[in-house]
Amino acid sequence: MNNDILKTLYSKEDIQTACKRLGKEISTFYKGKTPIVIGVLKGSMFFMADLVRYADIYMELDFMDVSSYHGGLSSSGEVKLVTDITKDVSGRDILIVEDIVDTGRTLKFLMDTLKDRGAKSIEVCSLLDKPSGRVVEASSKFVGFEVPNEFVVGYGLDYDEKYRNLPYIGVLKPEIYSTK
Ligand code: 5GP
Repeated sequence: MNNDILKTLYSKEDIQTACKRLGKEISTFYKGKTPIVIGVLKGSMFFMADLVRYADIYMELDFMDVSSYHGGLSSSGEVKLVTDITKDVSGRDILIVEDIVDTGRTLKFLMDTLKDRGAKSIEVCSLLDKPSGRVVEASSKFVGFEVPNEFVVGYGLDYDEKYRNLPYIGVLKPEIYSTK
């Protein structure tokens, strides 16, 4: 699997440093509050797990699964709710944890959904942000790294459901896409 990677963008250590910084920022921001932290499956699974353990505040954890992607390199544009959270969000502070914000469609869908259900506040923590891909307005309050317009894999992020278990974030060799 490692042989399929052209270059590493963020090492294991880079990612842990970012998680630590973001954990501190979140702890300061939510001091005295108990947010519901919602991880967006499956891409945010490792990020969520690392991030929340660097935060020293009370919080409740939940997960949502949405799909906007069908194994390719670009988003289909349509966002669907696949698995919903179990908690009532009305009157609650919500922190959405995302792997990457690209077009912004997934985030907009999630924020609109949670707003309609009466959340008191909604913020976003995204490990990666790809501002050049933005199609709809959506922004994260807490961002790990701003990435160039490249398709990245690893640390939860997939290509055709593979490479999520890479411990770092990298770019695939072009022949991997072309032989599919
Ligand atoms: P958006 O709705 O903002 O376009 O995209 C959100 C989702 O698309 C992310 O949660 C992620 O699953 C997927 N995505 C966007 N860019 C990339 C990328 O560079 N690599 C991978 N593996 N997934 C991406």
